Amino acid sequence: MNHHIKRRGILIIISSPSGTGKTTVANALLENDFNLHMSVSATTRSPRPNETHGKDYLFISEGEFLKQRDAGNFAEQAKVFGNHYGTFKTTVDDAIENGRDVLFVIDWQGTQQLSQSYAHDMVRIFMLPPTFEDLQSRLNYRGTDNNKIIQQRLLKATDEMSHWAEYDYVVINNNLEHTISAIHNIIKSERLRRRRQVDLVHFVTKLREDGEEYAKKNG
Ligand code: 5GP
Repeated sequence: MNHHIKRRGILIIISSPSGTGKTTVANALLENDFNLHMSVSATTRSPRPNETHGKDYLFISEGEFLKQRDAGNFAEQAKVFGNHYGTFKTTVDDAIENGRDVLFVIDWQGTQQLSQSYAHDMVRIFMLPPTFEDLQSRLNYRGTDNNKIIQQRLLKATDEMSHWAEYDYVVINNNLEHTISAIHNIIKSERLRRRRQVDLVHFVTKLREDGEEYAKKNG
């Protein structure tokens, strides 16, 4: 019964070119799994109409961002499409310590930085679109960004995709339901990894002691 055993929280990283559907996938995973939490990043980007401060992002000024960065408070940070994005160290450390699994929707630069300090506590998943046309139509359909920004994101996609080999898992988003269940299966398997289950030693020691006692009486 694994839920008796204390374990370290997992940092689940999802990266993909803009428009692959990672936000949709992330939201579905959060709904289906109660031990999964979203990492809320700080950004200097302006909120989109459907976004809430504190839920989607912490929307902060450039001055505040640079102050936090210079104080060394970010576990990772990067400039993407001209805006700063960053994850606070406290978000990461609290999650690992308390056995909480946290989902990070961040780019390859942030993933590389987290890998330097948290390699053993991370699972890196890269999502790819089935075709380039698919990426184009999703970005147009989203309707939240203007044409210039959409074009910028499409030009960046090839660059982003060149980092696929730095990830532990690669999932092609052919079908939303399959993608969600594939990623959920990855998370469920990763939770069982021996090194994450920090109380396993005590658990097995107790089992073996009981076994030895049985042997003494009946052997
Ligand atoms: P968007 O502006 O569409 O919300 O995000 C743009 C890009 O920034 C996405 O590719 C996303 O992965 C990346 N991003 C969002 N938050 C963070 C973060 O905290 N750190 C890093 N490195 N990238 C982020």
